[in-house]
Amino acid sequence: MNPRFQAIQLIQQRNPQPSTPNRRSPSQVFRENVFSGEVMRSYLTPQIFQQLQNISQERKTLDRSIADSVANGIKTWALEKGATHFTHWFQPLTGRTAEKHDSFLELSGGNGIDHFSGHELVQQEPDASSFPSGGLRSTFEARGYTAWDCSSPIFIFETSYGRTLCIPTIFVSFTGQALDYKIPLLRSLAMLDEAATAVAQLFEPEVKRVIVNMGAEQEYFLVDRAFYHARPDLLMTGRTLLGAPLHRGQRMGGNYFGAISDRVFAFMDELEQEALKLGIPLKTRHNEVAPSQYECAPQYQPLNIASDQQLILMDLIDRVAQKHQYAALMHERPFEGINGSGKHKNWSLHTDTGKNLLSPGPTPEENLMFLTFFVCVIKAVSEHSDLLLASVSSAGNDLRLDGPEAPPSIISVFTGSKLSKVLDDIENPPRRKRNEQISDLMHLGISEIPELLIDNTDRNRTSPFAFTGNKFELRTVGASANGSQSMAILNVMVTQALQKFKKRVDSKVNRGRGLEAAVLDMLREYISESKKIRFEGDSYTEDWRVEAERRGLFFFPHAPAAYEAMLTSKAKKLLVASGLYTEQELLARYEVLKQHYLNQVRSESDIMREMVLTQIIPAALTYEQQLQQVLASDSVATKVQKELLENLQAAQAQLLFLNENLQRLCQEAEKLEDTSETAKVYAEKVLPTLNQMREQGDYLESILPDQYWPLPKYREILFIA
Ligand code: ADP
Ligand code: MG
Repeated sequence: MNPRFQAIQLIQQRNPQPSTPNRRSPSQVFRENVFSGEVMRSYLTPQIFQQLQNISQERKTLDRSIADSVANGIKTWALEKGATHFTHWFQPLTGRTAEKHDSFLELSGGNGIDHFSGHELVQQEPDASSFPSGGLRSTFEARGYTAWDCSSPIFIFETSYGRTLCIPTIFVSFTGQALDYKIPLLRSLAMLDEAATAVAQLFEPEVKRVIVNMGAEQEYFLVDRAFYHARPDLLMTGRTLLGAPLHRGQRMGGNYFGAISDRVFAFMDELEQEALKLGIPLKTRHNEVAPSQYECAPQYQPLNIASDQQLILMDLIDRVAQKHQYAALMHERPFEGINGSGKHKNWSLHTDTGKNLLSPGPTPEENLMFLTFFVCVIKAVSEHSDLLLASVSSAGNDLRLDGPEAPPSIISVFTGSKLSKVLDDIENPPRRKRNEQISDLMHLGISEIPELLIDNTDRNRTSPFAFTGNKFELRTVGASANGSQSMAILNVMVTQALQKFKKRVDSKVNRGRGLEAAVLDMLREYISESKKIRFEGDSYTEDWRVEAERRGLFFFPHAPAAYEAMLTSKAKKLLVASGLYTEQELLARYEVLKQHYLNQVRSESDIMREMVLTQIIPAALTYEQQLQQVLASDSVATKVQKELLENLQAAQAQLLFLNENLQRLCQEAEKLEDTSETAKVYAEKVLPTLNQMREQGDYLESILPDQYWPLPKYREILFIA
């Protein structure tokens, strides 16, 4: 039988799989599998517990002398929980996470015992040679090690088949270079903490720390596994390279916030339970705009924790989907003609005194502090929007950005019209009325910001970087991205803007200017310098594209071009001089991103060629033969039938011709010595050829008899579940 029909038949027999017979409230399940503060208290002595707390708060490393006691407590807890193995869990530059499991078993005097030492907790040496390092590790020094990051809680990952103790770690080479996404993120958090605390202290001296908070909204598609397996493109590249678009009425499907089907509900329910056990505070679940598209979002957390959790969540989505006979697609654009998937990153700064620095307060002074942080973020983005773009660029995101409902590939900042007016007024103060005796803060409307914001209902969904009341939302991150890189870069950009702000304000104050006036001077300067990045209108329009170009905003035709922004002297001045990356680390990340890109587009080209030759052309030939027979036997063959045959033959010929072109282009690209040039050929020549092939393939899909078409069609993948 046609594999497509087989898949459909199989899916008809699927039933929702309810997960938990004993229902408990979310708070009862929450952190069940986390070695959290409370658990630590009962498994560690009070002294060890206190030492560990200090270490994680002060971001120090664990003293070997207490490591054994900590490991012992962890082992007891893990064994009670049914764990059999432990692993260092880390974030290599593959973009996802890595783990290598070791059993607790150790032989002692001929007997087996369960063993877990301080050394095993603190440091391991996974065979690092197979992880991408962008040249950081030449083979003769291929060693790397993982080390416990005490700032992120230890957890037990539970599947239906077993339980593993997971120790979040950093991944570093023996020469001290960061081989992961985690170390730069932690570095960026320390820098931003220091810079933001110094600025916050201008207004509130009691502030001792600034914490970056983040909440990520994750979009994904769920498709039945049977369809997924019947499509080599989905299976191997995460997206459909062929597939006639849905008919017009089906594209939106009225799906947004629609009722969730039982089968999907069962999946979401289990996902939520599993996430809660791991301390991921999943809060929101709903249908997204496109058919079979969904979103989930946890409540925000400190960025280092949220970042880890976001990766665990992606892993969970994959696993739970599999259990429910789905495949979760987190590719940025799995289907043509309908929305792709992103990951909105909500970002804000909070003080240890409990204040959100991006939320205006009840007094004019607090609003001045709010404006300071608000404007510094805008200034940072204005200065380095090229880097922000580079940090989110990928082969998948190239297909998503500028597409339906996705932000454009030009970064701009949306503030809302009311705040925009406040900024304009600070830059060019409105004339004072005669005899007006009010303070600058009143005069400039700074005291009214909270009221302004209450009815500031502008919710601009088209902006790549939007202020949404008490946080900024970066919407350009792709659904499949690790996302730590963009956050680290945003942090360091903002750090730079804050440092300069503080330095300039201090020097003005030292020269006798009042603090408030000095802050206003600097705000004026920053507002004026960053004006070009602010845009309140519809970012989808052609007018904006023209305007953005006129303003000189950064725009890149594709990811490989965007990556070049990481190597400019401006970028190095920010990323290397700040200490976020060493020069080699930066270069390595650039190389790794490029290699990711190449791997993706190479695999797309290979799969397309194979599908054309082994699936599309054979199906078309079967129909061609059939048509030819009819035409040969039937003396009254109509003109329409003849035309059909001609069109069929022409499309096949064109497809085969393009297929050869594709092969030739790939071969030429691979001959180039400079991989940047290779990536460019793929972006500029190979991908357009794939699109042309898709056109022919989709035409064939639209004329071939249903029973001959081997690949599950869009309407089936997206509407049969
Ligand atoms: P939407 O943008 O879809 O309206 P929400 O406003 O509910 O969604 O927020 C989405 C995400 O933003 C959630 O993860 C939420 O916890 C997070 N979030 C809310 N407030 C903040 C904040 N101050 N800082 C960081 N993230 C936040
Ligand atoms: Mg949002």
